[in-house]
Amino acid sequence: MQLIDTHCHLTFDDLVADIEAVLARSQQAGVTGWITVGTDMEQNRKTIELAERHENMYAAIGIHPHDAKNVTAGTITELKKLAQNEKVVAIGEMGLDFHYDFSPRQDQRRAFAQQLKIAAALGPPVIIHCREAFDETMEILEQYGRSVKRVVFHCFGGSADQAKIVLDRGFYISFTGVVTFKNAEPVRQAAKIVPLAKLMVESDCPYMSPEPMRKQKINEPAFMLHTAKCLAELKGMDLGDFAEEVTATSRAFFGLPEK
Ligand SMILES: [Zn+2]
Ligand SMILES: [Zn+2]
Repeated sequence: MQLIDTHCHLTFDDLVADIEAVLARSQQAGVTGWITVGTDMEQNRKTIELAERHENMYAAIGIHPHDAKNVTAGTITELKKLAQNEKVVAIGEMGLDFHYDFSPRQDQRRAFAQQLKIAAALGPPVIIHCREAFDETMEILEQYGRSVKRVVFHCFGGSADQAKIVLDRGFYISFTGVVTFKNAEPVRQAAKIVPLAKLMVESDCPYMSPEPMRKQKINEPAFMLHTAKCLAELKGMDLGDFAEEVTATSRAFFGLPEK
C-alpha cells in the first residue's frame, strides 16, 4: 500500500527535529509520499529545501491566512520566484480563517486573491484553508480563481451540503483525522458523498491527530493510516483498494510522476 500524505507540515519544529525517524515510521505505515506545506516565507523556503533532500516528497508554498498581515509586495514577488522550483507542486495553503482572525480580514482577503492570481498565471493547483468563512471563500474563488486548474479544500470540516457545493464547482476535498472524531458525524456524512476521484487524505501534522491517537499532541504522517481506514470503512471498501484510488487521485491532482 502506498498512501500519500497530501498536507503535512514536516518543517515545523516538532517534526523536523527528528525527520528521518518520522519518515521511517510513515513508510512503515504505508504512507510513502508527502506534500509538505508552507505557511509563511520562512517555512516556504524550508519546505523546498526539505523536499529537495527527500524522494517522494514535494512542496506546496503559500501564505496561511494567519500570516496574511505580514504580506508585502516583496512577499508576492518572492513567492512567484519560489513557485518555479521543480519540487513545488501547489500554491497554498491560502484562504480565510474567521475562527481565529489572527490577521485582519481585509488582509486575509487580499493575500488570498493575490495567491490565486499567482496560481492562475503559473498553473499549479491550489490548497485552500477555510474556517468559518465558507461563503466568502467560495466568492473569492469565483472572482479570482476561475483560471486555476485544480482546487482542494483541505482539512474539510463542513457538512454534506457544503461538500456538495464544493464538488459542484469541480473542486477536490481532503480529509484529516477530524473525520475520525466522535463528534464529527457531519464530516463523515460529507465524506460519504465525495467520489474517490475527488477525495484526498492528509495528516495536517503536527496538528489533528486522528482517533485512536488523538491524545498524541504531535501528529505525524504515520497516523494518517487511521484516517484512511476510517474513510475506507465509510466507503465500504477494502483499505488497499481505497488507498490505490485516492493515491491515483492525489497524483493526478498534484501532477506527480507515476510510480
Ligand atoms: Zn490549514
Ligand atoms: Zn496545514
